[in-house]
Amino acid sequence: MNLILFGPPGAGKGTQAKYLIKKLNCFQVSTGDMLRYEIQKDTEIGKKIINDMNDGKFVNDEIVNDLIKNVIFDTKNKNKLIFDGYPRSLSQAKNLDLLLDTSNQKIDFIFFLNVDKNTIIKRIKKRKILENRSDDELNTILKRYDTYMETTRPVLDFYSKNPNFYEIDGTLEIDEITAKIDAFLNV
Ligand code: AMP
Repeated sequence: MNLILFGPPGAGKGTQAKYLIKKLNCFQVSTGDMLRYEIQKDTEIGKKIINDMNDGKFVNDEIVNDLIKNVIFDTKNKNKLIFDGYPRSLSQAKNLDLLLDTSNQKIDFIFFLNVDKNTIIKRIKKRKILENRSDDELNTILKRYDTYMETTRPVLDFYSKNPNFYEIDGTLEIDEITAKIDAFLNV
């Protein structure tokens, strides 16, 4: 089974992904985590993306699409993909479709965790204390939210027509969201 967790920064995609990878024996495909790893290891990619990441800007498509491609074509991940933070634009969504098609895979579920701006700000402020992420400063949060509204949210038009698209109130408690996901998965 492959699924997408879609929603704004702070919607709880990572939290639910961590639950689902255990439950479904799948792999979390978090482009954010992959990019942070490149920075932490000070790789060539890491050096290229550090400023954009810290400013809350998108990393360029070519870099992100390349990372994704490697994961999708790795046979041990086949039909075990949980996307968290990808796709984030229409062009990424189309790229994902193409890569899945080429590797004889499809998306089985798309879960949209819908959360309002104030809840996001509150949650990310809390995460800043717990995880100390450099892109969780208030200014950067606001910028990431605007980018989400401008570039990522329009991807919903692309996915909402899909029969496997489910919207979930992302302001609910973690276990309530998990229960809704479980009910849709019927597992
Ligand atoms: P996240 O951990 O998903 O909140 O992502 C943190 C940051 O990584 C984002 O603000 C972007 O700078 C970068 N990033 C993560 N995923 C993508 C993506 N799919 N496309 C472009 N940039 C991304």
